[in-house]
Amino acid sequence: MTEPLIGVLALQGDFEAHGRVLRRLGTHVREVRTPEDLDGLDGLVIPGGESTTMTLGVLREGLGEPIRELTAAGVPVLGSCAGLIMLDREHLAVMDILARRNAFGRQVRSFEADVAMEGIDGAPVRGVFIRAPLIAEHGAGVEVLAEIDGHPVAARQGATIAVAFHTELGTDDRVHGLLLDEVRAARARR
Ligand code: GLN
Repeated sequence: MTEPLIGVLALQGDFEAHGRVLRRLGTHVREVRTPEDLDGLDGLVIPGGESTTMTLGVLREGLGEPIRELTAAGVPVLGSCAGLIMLDREHLAVMDILARRNAFGRQVRSFEADVAMEGIDGAPVRGVFIRAPLIAEHGAGVEVLAEIDGHPVAARQGATIAVAFHTELGTDDRVHGLLLDEVRAARARR
């Protein structure tokens, strides 16, 4: 099998850092700005950034419905931070979750924490939380993968994974590795 082609939504936010991680893991990377850019993708990353701005970009480019179709077709997706917000019921409605934005308090704009995450063996993941959301509500089809102070900060629904923190800033590529595991499984099914 050739290396998978992973799209990174590149309307706004830190899409370049995700591209670097994915290339390091040996995938092809395509920046996604229009619905045509979704054609033929094996996976998609929705990066951190600012979810209001990103939502306006999605509306402007008509990307909402095509992204929902892609996920409905079983293409794996990873959303990080604002990307988690984008996946929730009130945004792209790809996951049965409700995000609470800026959930860790104004005074704590940014912090790092060790996150023990289901599906990731070995040391916990070093999560960088930057005005991060948490998952305030989730439906029965959603599996919580990690919590901070009893609040879900990572979850999976089918082949879609959402994390409230940034994982693309350091050298620990294991969360992207989870996405690639899903991508390989989805390709094997085709
Ligand atoms: N606070 C941002 C939002 O609400 C998300 C922050 C991030 O992606 N680092 O969109």
